[in-house]
Amino acid sequence: MSSVWMSVTKIASKVQAGELKATELVEQSLAMIAEKDEYRAIIATTSERARSRATEIDAKVANGETVGVLAGVPFIAKDNFLVFGAETTAASNILKGFDAPYQSTAVERLEAAGAICVAKANLDAFAHGSSTENSDFMVTKNPVDPTRVPGGSSGGSAAAVVLDLAPFALGTDTGGSIRLPASFCGAVGYKPTYGLVSRSGVVAMASSTDVIGPLTRTVEDAAVVMSVMAGKDRLDSTTIDSTPAEFLELTGELKGKKVGVIKEYMSEGLDAGVRARIEAAIAKMEEAGALVSEISLPSLPLALAAYYIICPAEVSSNLSRYDGQRYGYTYTEAENLSESFSKSRSIGFGKEAKRRIMIGTYVLSSGYYDAYYKKAQTVRTKLIQEFQGAFEQFDFLVGPVAPTPAFKIGENTADPLQMYLTDIMTVAVSLAGIPAVSIPAGLSDGLPVGLQIMAAQRKDKELLSVAQATGELLV
Ligand code: GLN
Repeated sequence: MSSVWMSVTKIASKVQAGELKATELVEQSLAMIAEKDEYRAIIATTSERARSRATEIDAKVANGETVGVLAGVPFIAKDNFLVFGAETTAASNILKGFDAPYQSTAVERLEAAGAICVAKANLDAFAHGSSTENSDFMVTKNPVDPTRVPGGSSGGSAAAVVLDLAPFALGTDTGGSIRLPASFCGAVGYKPTYGLVSRSGVVAMASSTDVIGPLTRTVEDAAVVMSVMAGKDRLDSTTIDSTPAEFLELTGELKGKKVGVIKEYMSEGLDAGVRARIEAAIAKMEEAGALVSEISLPSLPLALAAYYIICPAEVSSNLSRYDGQRYGYTYTEAENLSESFSKSRSIGFGKEAKRRIMIGTYVLSSGYYDAYYKKAQTVRTKLIQEFQGAFEQFDFLVGPVAPTPAFKIGENTADPLQMYLTDIMTVAVSLAGIPAVSIPAGLSDGLPVGLQIMAAQRKDKELLSVAQATGELLV
């Protein structure tokens, strides 16, 4: 993808060498944000703080001090990351006015490496959605075709990267929210193994599948950003140990790698243009020496139903903290506390959040728990086992990210089930906690199509290596 930005490593090395100024990079990013405002990718900028951080970095360089591996690199965080310098709203009215008292670990680590957050990106409120149309504030437009959605829920982040608003952006992926917008906009979207990046300071959606990852122009950039963010954090007990080296030094080797094409994802209902792009990408992998064959994971058709039980169950619990007293919006006319709770929530939450609270409490209620929640967890276990079995035979699995390219704004908003079906090829990976990446695989009728590559848990370096090698074949 051609871009006004160099690779993140190159930018940082030029800043370190005094050839580029962090202050100029921040101004460039802020100017791009202003220029591309019509795409509605950005909720707010953190311009004041970004400028002062850039001045500090430039002063350090002038003093001969060493600055980090991302020195001066501007980035944009999805607005569900707690960040100083602007409100954290998660694109929900109920969080309007909420100033974070601390920053998310991921952002803290990026800052420690010299990166500079310049803005907060739009999302489906609380990350519930697949098109960014569930934002309570505005609809982000697809940078390739502004009549279409950018995908969701990290639609603002993906659009921001493709629009060159910053060299990289942060997203979250609970059921596909990094991979889907990457696919719809033509960016690289990397969902790491569950637990590799701390969730501390990120607005929780479904805690058992929530992960944080980068949206970038290249796989190399994703690897560098990940090397900075990943690793154990005492603020998130689900984090796992890792070292920066686990993400760097990509081998780029495809020869001899066993690649399984997921049969269930290539079946009926797949858009012909998407199929053609995916098949062409797989053929290129084969030409480069990959050993390709088909694999069936028989429980995959159950994944979407299981996800849309487990996810709302966790959402209903995680959203209970927004009671109108502690964060953001409060209904001020209430006569008692109980009315304040219920009015704050009924006015503050949007339609989709309410839908998930209702579904979630329903599937967790006694009498329905065994019929829905427990069954969904059984399916989840089965999926995990099937993925484990598949990774005994294959190094990687591949398929599309979504059954269609980006759809029209408004096309699916009236029918939540139709919207949920967009996630049919991304949710199983989330339930299994495995890493996956979406890389651009060309255009269908002018619209980007993403190839999804999946690997076993903790095989993130191998995944990024093969994604890099494949990406080079597809340009
Ligand atoms: N589209 C999915 C959902 O709405 C996934 C969202 C996400 O990954 N945050 O639940």
